[in-house]
Amino acid sequence: MPSPARAVPGTPRPTAEGREGARGGIGRALPWRPAVFLDRDGTLNHDTGYVHCIADFHWFPGAINAIRRLNDSGYYVFIVTNQSGVARGIYDEAAIHDLHSWMNEELRAAGARIDDIRYCPHHPQASIVAYRTQCSCRKPAAGMLLDLMDVWPVIREASVMIGDKESDAVAGRAAGIASAIVPAGGLEDFVAELLRRREACWSPP
Ligand SMILES: [Mg+2]
Ligand SMILES: [Zn+2]
Repeated sequence: MPSPARAVPGTPRPTAEGREGARGGIGRALPWRPAVFLDRDGTLNHDTGYVHCIADFHWFPGAINAIRRLNDSGYYVFIVTNQSGVARGIYDEAAIHDLHSWMNEELRAAGARIDDIRYCPHHPQASIVAYRTQCSCRKPAAGMLLDLMDVWPVIREASVMIGDKESDAVAGRAAGIASAIVPAGGLEDFVAELLRRREACWSPP
């Protein structure tokens, strides 16, 4: 059982009984916790361009371990991913769901989990008309992060957006959370440092 989330000084601190039920978006009582929002392609897996099938999905070494460490440290872990391949007609949303189901199985087998996923299938110049829109979810817009924080009780001040591109960091900042650009394959080291600092800076409850 992970220890309860601890807030940084000056931020709301979950009480012993938590603040369960404060947000009822998914119909369950959940504790307030910090979150790590992860980009997918180029952050969790090699970004070979429009990755959409299992055969082309290659985890970075240490990525699953990084997710498990975040799980065990009391973070919510989310994926926020632009998937304009849908708008471009390269693959459909069912392919995304299939891939994400497989990812969840891989993670479960390793004792790790992603708590929730948002993807943006849109693009302003989409060849598929139904997806042609200047949406509020495609990064660098913050829509996917804001939606997750609407549904999950996230301690925003202690949360981090991690991606491999400037657009990821812009989205994170637009959502009001700290953001980091991590080079391909660097997630495990980054998370190790994040957790070290948290241990060093945060006083015990
Ligand atoms: Mg990326
Ligand atoms: Zn979108």
